[in-house]
Amino acid sequence: MLNNMKHVLGLSGGKDSAALAVYMRQNYPDLDIEYFFTDTGKELPEVYEFLGKLEGFLGKAILRLNPDRDFDFWLKRYNDFLPSPQTRWCTRQLKLRPFEAWLKPLLQAGQQIVSYVAIRADEEYREGYTATQKGLTIRLPFKEAGIDKAGVLEILEASGLGLPRYYAWRSRSGCTFCFFQQKIEWVRLLEQHPEAFEEAKSYEKTALSHGSPFTWSLGESLEELAQPERIAAIRVDHERRVVRMRSRKQPNPLRPQPEPLDIDELYGKTKVCLACHK
Ligand code: SF4
Repeated sequence: MLNNMKHVLGLSGGKDSAALAVYMRQNYPDLDIEYFFTDTGKELPEVYEFLGKLEGFLGKAILRLNPDRDFDFWLKRYNDFLPSPQTRWCTRQLKLRPFEAWLKPLLQAGQQIVSYVAIRADEEYREGYTATQKGLTIRLPFKEAGIDKAGVLEILEASGLGLPRYYAWRSRSGCTFCFFQQKIEWVRLLEQHPEAFEEAKSYEKTALSHGSPFTWSLGESLEELAQPERIAAIRVDHERRVVRMRSRKQPNPLRPQPEPLDIDELYGKTKVCLACHK
């Protein structure tokens, strides 16, 4: 009988999906999984570097799915309205559409596809990521095996991959200008990648001059956010949160180095996107 089953695993450039790829490689070495990354064209250089390391570990290339139209095309199509948590056209057009376009002919040809998604045991399965297409099945191996955030960190550490470098200053994967970033992450983007910050600023200026009500960060433009006194205030607020959180956390004797603080824990959970932030 022909093997009619295809296994796919989407990488976002973030820690959870990378750990899932490692986990599947280690626990199901005979499963022929196709790993893919949907490139929005607005990724941090650290993401490509990490994907390169991951390819070395997996011993196979990660398929790059490039959207047929880029961010600038869609921005014009949406009348220069920046994407926002309310109107998240970027994920739909730059992440989901290429994935669906890739799978569609395969599903139409009658192939069964299993997609492995890195929802952890400590997360709610909130987003409607259930398979809507006939022939597509979603599997959540971390949920099935009870692997939580600490488990993910252990998998990455033990594999020698560690975390992507941007976790030193940013809490999740995604576009350089993702509007889900907290203000402290914008400040750090300015420090780490001033050219990406400038690009985000210029998108904002064009959008505002075309009547878009959205700025990347809630309530202020990047021009305002980058003023020295604003940066200082954002840093002070962040430090207060860090001190408060550290005083609440029990030190873990097995992890003498404090693990990177989760921005979601510091600022309260924001909605994340499985295609971008896992
Ligand atoms: S990372 Fe953010 S800006 Fe990029 S596609 Fe996802 S939601 Fe949109």
